[in-house]
Amino acid sequence: MTIEISAAPPSHALEALGVVAGYGGKTILRQLDLRIRAGEIYALLGANGAGKTTALSLFLGFVAPTSGQVRVHGVDPVAQPGEARRHIAYIPENVALYEHLTARENVAYLLDLAGQNDGPDAIARALAAAGLDTAAFDRRVGGFSKGMRQKVAIALALARKVPALLLDEPTSGLDPQATAEFNRLLQLLRAQGVAILMVTHDLLSAADVADRIGFLDAGLLVEEVAAEGDDRFDVRALHRRYAGQITPSEQPA
Ligand code: ATP
Repeated sequence: MTIEISAAPPSHALEALGVVAGYGGKTILRQLDLRIRAGEIYALLGANGAGKTTALSLFLGFVAPTSGQVRVHGVDPVAQPGEARRHIAYIPENVALYEHLTARENVAYLLDLAGQNDGPDAIARALAAAGLDTAAFDRRVGGFSKGMRQKVAIALALARKVPALLLDEPTSGLDPQATAEFNRLLQLLRAQGVAILMVTHDLLSAADVADRIGFLDAGLLVEEVAAEGDDRFDVRALHRRYAGQITPSEQPA
């Protein structure tokens, strides 16, 4: 059966339908179905090696499915990687910036590379919206903390007005206050209609901010839960199931 996804207007900013993918003949993702709407935060959890980063790589066009379809804002990222990436901001675990440039210069330069020519006021507004202290705008990013680097990356995403944001383990190494601040930024992007796919091991943070949480186990999406009511998720039950995916040899002593 062929699955057809209409090109425009896309109902979901990020879509993977029936995707099988891997590396060098080894299958990692098995029939992955993920659809993330505008203004939705989706957290993908799973044990080490489950295929979470591979799922992100699909949307960036770095991994081609052997079957199934992937679309970013209606665009096939393998056939048109440049066009697909125009619609995406990707924030890896460690944000890469030009260390000798200031926060403001980084955003200006990276916007320029993306073919966008925002003036200084627009860049300052984006940095302020991302929660970076004004005093840090003109400091070299070389000495920035992980949280500050993420704010620069979020400012870039805000300025680019991308419909989709991909995040790889954004809160690992952040203290609880920085995590809460980061989650508020994600909520800001969600309110602007951005579709957010976040790969994480941080169940608590995911439960705080995500609209849906999916569990990937050896490349299979074994469970999806949606936030409900004031408590949003039953974190203890999710933790039991999530921890249950860890094999005894991997459990901490
Ligand atoms: P983690 O939580 O440890 O980051 P993950 O769920 O993100 O894990 P992936 O990084 O997607 O998992 O890796 C899934 C599997 O694919 C692993 O077995 C990994 O060794 C393998 N893999 C990842 N990248 C490549 C690559 N470029 N070439 C070959 N195998 C790879």
